[in-house]
Amino acid sequence: MGRRPKDYMKNKIKRVKMKSILRAPKGMPDILPEENLLRRKIFKAVEEMANFYGFGQIETPILEETKLFLHGTGPTSEIVQKQMFTLKTPGGDILALRPEFTPNIIRAYLENGMSNWSKPVKLFSWGPVFRYEQPQRGRYRQFWQCNFEILGSSDPIYDVLTIQIFYNLLTELKIKNLLIEINTIGCDNCRPIWQKNLKNYFHSKQKFLCLDCKNRLKTNPLRTLDCKKESCQSLKEEAPKMIDYLCPECRKHFKQVLEFLESMGLPYVINHNLVRGLDYYTKTVFEIRKTDDNIALCGGGRYDYLVEMLGGKSTPAVGGAAGVERLVELIKKSQKIDLFVKPKVFLIAIGELPKQKSLKYLELLRKAKIYTAESFAHESLKAQLRQADKLEVRYVVIVGQKEALDDTVILRDMKASTQEVVSGEKIVEELKKRLKNDNINII
Ligand code: ATP
Ligand code: MG
Repeated sequence: MGRRPKDYMKNKIKRVKMKSILRAPKGMPDILPEENLLRRKIFKAVEEMANFYGFGQIETPILEETKLFLHGTGPTSEIVQKQMFTLKTPGGDILALRPEFTPNIIRAYLENGMSNWSKPVKLFSWGPVFRYEQPQRGRYRQFWQCNFEILGSSDPIYDVLTIQIFYNLLTELKIKNLLIEINTIGCDNCRPIWQKNLKNYFHSKQKFLCLDCKNRLKTNPLRTLDCKKESCQSLKEEAPKMIDYLCPECRKHFKQVLEFLESMGLPYVINHNLVRGLDYYTKTVFEIRKTDDNIALCGGGRYDYLVEMLGGKSTPAVGGAAGVERLVELIKKSQKIDLFVKPKVFLIAIGELPKQKSLKYLELLRKAKIYTAESFAHESLKAQLRQADKLEVRYVVIVGQKEALDDTVILRDMKASTQEVVSGEKIVEELKKRLKNDNINII
C-alpha cells in the first residue's frame, strides 16, 4: 500500500456523536409501516371514488408563493393569520408550505390552461398539508388531506355530488353514524347585509366575547361564528342567521341542495353557525362528522369567486377535503383489520454460496409473483425456521452448502412436516403446482 498523503488526518471525517437522539418537529409524527398499510387502504378507496366520478389526480408543489394563500385562503382566515409555515429562499422568494389544496389547484388550473378543458373540470389530490397549530387529538402540524374539486359549474347538483363523494368514502371505510352539517353563507349580493347585522349584534355583546372574537369583529365579523371557545357558544344562538337574508338566487340554490340531499337520503342538519375557516366560500358550506363526536372528518363548500380572485375568468366551483389522520384514528379505534399480506414461501440460506444462490431464487420467485419472505441476516437454520413459523408460511425453500453445489433445494412443507430435494430449476414450477393444489392465490 502506498503512503498516505500528508493531509490524511486533516481530511478524515470527524464523526461527532449526538448526546441525545433528535426528535421529529412538534406535531409532525413519523408514519410507520403498519399505519401506512391503513393509509394505502384509504387511498385505494379515494382512488376508486375518483375513478368512478371522473376525477383526475393533480399533484401541486408542497411549497407555493405565500401570496397565493394571502389572496386565496384569505387574509382574515385563521390559517393565514396564525397557521402558515413560511420561508425565504436564498434567492429572496417568500414561500409557504401549503396549508390546504384549493388555492394551489386553482393556480395550477389557470397556469396549465385547464380553463379551456370541457367543464366541469374534476380534480382530486392526496398529500401532506401544514398548519402551525397546537398539536392534540386529531390535530397535527403536518397532516394528510384527500381533496376533491369540481370547477366550472354553478349547478347545486355538484354541491351535493361533492358531499355524496365524501359521504361514500367514509361509508366505504365503514365509518358509521355520520352526520352532514350544512349551511349557506350567501353571495356578494346578500352576505353584506347579514354581515352588517351580525356585526351590530356582536357589538352589543362585545363585553362577553373572547379576545380573539373582539378582533374578529373588526376584521371579519363572520369569523366570530367560527369561534371554538366555550364562552362564545351561547352568544351565537341568538345571532342573525344568513338564511333570513338570502337573495332569491342563493335561496333557490340552497333549497335545491337540501332537496337533493333529501332525495338521496343523506343524513343532514342545517347548522346556521357553520361558516368554515376559509375566506373564499360562497353559498353552500358543509362538514361531515360522527353523530357522537364534534370533530370534523371533512369539510368544504362552494367558492364561486376564487378563480376570478386569483386572476382567471369568473368560474363557479365547489370542493372539499377530508383529514386522513382523523380517518386513520377512527378506523384504528373501531375496526380490527388484518392489513398484512402473508408471504406464501420462506427462503432460507445457510452459508455464503447458498446466499448467493438464494438471491437468484428470490428473483425467480419474484418474477413468478410468488410472494416470498426471507431472514438472511440470521445465520442458523433454527432461527430462520422460527421466523418462517411465525409468519405461518407453509412452504420453506432451504439452500445449504450441499444444495448450493448440486443446484438443488430442500422444499419443506411446514404443515405436513415433510421435506424433499427438488432441482433448483424446477422449484418455481413445483411451488406453483403446490400452491394451486392448496387453492392459495399466489400474490
Ligand atoms: P377544524 O375546524 O377541525 O380546525 P378546519 O375547518 O380547519 O378543521 P379544513 O380546512 O376544512 O379544516 O380541512 C379539512 C379537514 O382536514 C378537516 O375536516 C379535518 O379532518 C382535517 N384537519 C384540519 N386541520 C387538521 C389538523 N391540524 N390536523 C389533522 N387534521 C386536520
Ligand atoms: Mg382549523
